Amino acid sequence: MNVPKEVDHSQQDLSERSHRALQDEFLRSAVRFTVDRLRSKKKSSTEHIPHWEDLREQGRAIRSHTIAHLDAYLGQFAKHVRAAGGQVHFATDAREANARVLEIVRQKEARSVIKSKSMVSEEIEVNHHLEAAGIDVVESDLGEYIIQLAGETPSHIIIPSIHKNREQIKDLFTADGGADLTTDTKVLASFARRRMRERFLQADIGMTGCNFGIAESGTIVLFTNEGNADMVANLPKTHIVLMGMERVLPSLADLEVIANLLPRSATGQKLTTYMSMITGTKRPSEVDGAQELHVIILDNGRSKQLGDEHFQEVLNCIRCGACLNVCPVYRQIGGHAYGSVYPGPIGAVLTPLLEESDAHDDLPYASSLCGACYEACPVKIPLHEMLVKLRQRKVRAGKTSPQERALMKGFAWGFGNHRRYRLMMKAGRLVQMPLVKKGQIDAAFGPLSAWTASRAAPMLAATSFRERWPSLEQTLTANKGDDKA
Ligand code: SF4
Repeated sequence: MNVPKEVDHSQQDLSERSHRALQDEFLRSAVRFTVDRLRSKKKSSTEHIPHWEDLREQGRAIRSHTIAHLDAYLGQFAKHVRAAGGQVHFATDAREANARVLEIVRQKEARSVIKSKSMVSEEIEVNHHLEAAGIDVVESDLGEYIIQLAGETPSHIIIPSIHKNREQIKDLFTADGGADLTTDTKVLASFARRRMRERFLQADIGMTGCNFGIAESGTIVLFTNEGNADMVANLPKTHIVLMGMERVLPSLADLEVIANLLPRSATGQKLTTYMSMITGTKRPSEVDGAQELHVIILDNGRSKQLGDEHFQEVLNCIRCGACLNVCPVYRQIGGHAYGSVYPGPIGAVLTPLLEESDAHDDLPYASSLCGACYEACPVKIPLHEMLVKLRQRKVRAGKTSPQERALMKGFAWGFGNHRRYRLMMKAGRLVQMPLVKKGQIDAAFGPLSAWTASRAAPMLAATSFRERWPSLEQTLTANKGDDKA
């Protein structure tokens, strides 16, 4: 299915993409509506569990332990996949992973591939590579199918088409061969189901991601709400699994903890609707299952985080999307403005770490550093601290603008000594005078104009707290004396 790219913001920087998103009222209200629903569902699914915080601690401990011993657990996982009849391929980067996929597709003389949702497949852009080689690729997850028809990338980790309304979906489905469709959800879902059924039966190869690979058994675990991963993994004769190298868990007992955390944090469900567990290829006694199983384990910049005291923990992520739902920046600009496959706070940290290109240097600034992402994260990843560390890295590499460097030097000079600080405040009160209207600054100049373009800034008080303190202190002392009397 070759479709033109409708959204290509790759040539713009974060500020331009954000500005564009902020002009899109529909996008903003659609994103806000959905993330608010997800947040309230999460709240109701977690607030009645007295041990939710313990579960988060357990989740963090499991993920930290696994990542600290990743080499051993990956080795164990690969051994068990092979013992169960599967083949394991390690790919250093996206190019190697795509080459391996294409090799398998060509070996099988396949013409069509059906997929279930996989963020790793988005990361390596496998669809484009397969389509360029003349292979028909179809997404079977409803949200992914919608954005594939639109020629877009996901704008949310869990709900890829969060920014689309029913009218837009109806138009996309109509263009894909669904005449006389209405915007009724049942009509749209039924069209997608019919379309999907044909594709499931025609596909030569099924491709899935991997929520978790269980080291002790070589089991691939997939969480879905539509059950499509079961069909993708079992109907075609060949099953390709794309797995990020960090997605391993030591045991099924560990999965029990994570399976409690993930759906509650992602969609507010106590359990995911379908949890598929696939161990090896089809056995002679089994009715269905793939005859060939290939697990492609992708590094693509992940191993560089191992041993890094500031960033190793980012590999603990279980891709629940909860940090997106609470982020005040994501709520306003949606996912595409981040210009990367992984949006929101996790994307603002992960993308610069994985890609290490100047193109994503500005992503760590897409945050108010409020820490809501940390509070929401089921495995307690300190994303807000990582964002600060990434900013520090950029500053130390001398990548900030000369104006910003001069401004920061000025701040350091002024704030480093109380006399200079007072002097700066006095000077500030004078400088602000021409800009103050009705007690606030609503039209600054220079770089500050970006702030006042959409909001007013409070004016500096005529008397600072420090200047007021001596008389305040006297009043407080007098009041205390009165109380005692
Ligand atoms: S960082 Fe935490 S909250 Fe965000 S997607 Fe990963 S696990 Fe979920």
